[in-house]
Amino acid sequence: MNPARLARFHDCERYFICPLCHAELRLDSTSLRCPNRHTFDIAKQGYVNLAPAAKQSQFYSKESFANRGRILNAGYYSHIASAVLDAVRAHCPANRRPAILDAGCGEGFYARAVQQANPQADVLAFDISKDSVQQAAREDESLAIRWFVGNLADLPLRDAAVDCILDVFSPVHYGEFRRVLRPGGIVVKVVPGARHDEQLRELASAQLRHADYSNEQTVDQFARHFDVLDTRLVSRTFAMPPDDVRAFAHMTPLLFNVNIDALDLGRIRELTIEAQVIVGRKRHGRPPTAHVNAPETP
Ligand SMILES: [Zn+2]
Repeated sequence: MNPARLARFHDCERYFICPLCHAELRLDSTSLRCPNRHTFDIAKQGYVNLAPAAKQSQFYSKESFANRGRILNAGYYSHIASAVLDAVRAHCPANRRPAILDAGCGEGFYARAVQQANPQADVLAFDISKDSVQQAAREDESLAIRWFVGNLADLPLRDAAVDCILDVFSPVHYGEFRRVLRPGGIVVKVVPGARHDEQLRELASAQLRHADYSNEQTVDQFARHFDVLDTRLVSRTFAMPPDDVRAFAHMTPLLFNVNIDALDLGRIRELTIEAQVIVGRKRHGRPPTAHVNAPETP
């Protein structure tokens, strides 16, 4: 294996624990290994699978990855990426070598942006989907991001290991987030805004039980677990060619239960991409009972 692809795991004991027995993991040749000999090979793309038994979500087919990659690279989410970078810059605790975890990294768009803007930081990024982590690692020219397949509900990370967690359109697990955050650590949470994809939702309204979308419940829940430091709505409306409208229609979870073929997508000429970016700091004392929220990928 290319040694440059292994280098990022040379001090893996700083962050990673065995997903099976929770003992420390160390780099051993081309694998991460715990004292109980549980062994996790580093894939040639430069990621490690720390959730070998994980099942893929039915919604995340290869085709939806291709759509997502194309949409992200076209720049429709650049204003959201900028807001995430601003939030990290303003609120991530000052540290010579901050550790930033992208929880639910998908194909790695935000993790790569954060690594690029913070080359001094250790960026860790995981997803439960092996396909997406594989693609993310393949596109990581920095070879610096510690990519892994991981289970949100049982993160293979040490207690108090990271300064900042990015939770961008992903499910949350507040108990695990609190456990792996250092004291004073922050979460940057991104949820769809009320107007996100509104043109598509309006078109599909006959098929949707709730054409209106509200993130209020998610935001309230976040505020019960973290001291909210900042909240910002970022919104842009793009003129959009038909191919991109089609890609959006197929990738947005807000339309996962909709028969896309029955929609007259040609009527949509523009689309609003809107998100709320919330920054919270780990609160002292006991949190409310932990639980997992539904995914919010746009
Ligand atoms: Zn083990």
